Amino acid sequence: MDTNKTFTMIKPDAVAAGHIGAILDKITKSGFKIVALKYTMLSSQKAGQFYEVHKDRPFYKDLVSFMSSGPIVAAILEKDNAVEDFRKLIGATDPAKAEPGTIRNLFAKSIDANAVHGSDSDENAAIEGSFFFSAFEKF
Ligand code: UDP
Ligand code: MG
Repeated sequence: MDTNKTFTMIKPDAVAAGHIGAILDKITKSGFKIVALKYTMLSSQKAGQFYEVHKDRPFYKDLVSFMSSGPIVAAILEKDNAVEDFRKLIGATDPAKAEPGTIRNLFAKSIDANAVHGSDSDENAAIEGSFFFSAFEKF
């Protein structure tokens, strides 16, 4: 199991607000190397599959509809201790509780439209990366 990879998405709210460049800049300046990168859009079926672990949570339906509402940027990132360090860089799920200077503090508007996704474990980072990228798309 890799311990130096994580997976991220720039969510539809941040893409629509024109923050792709600023967010990627912050990610790379924080020491993450981009291993794979894609501008794409999730169907509601694909978004439902990606967030399957949350299917019993009250916000699931709204989350699926939000995540399929517009284009996203998906990426695999590499850095020592990637999962934990990236969670620190993005800040708390609720941007109102995210530390100053974190990506969610800077770019997110609400707990649902919170600008970015970050994997929560090495295992999920591998699963989520494979959901979007084939071996030929990782460098
Ligand atoms: N979410 C939401 N309402 C909540 C909690 C989460 O809309 O009360 C959304 C939000 O977009 C979040 C995603 O569901 O990023 C996944 O939730 P999780 O608890 O995994 O938060 P994360 O790992 O993204 O911080
Ligand atoms: Mg999560």
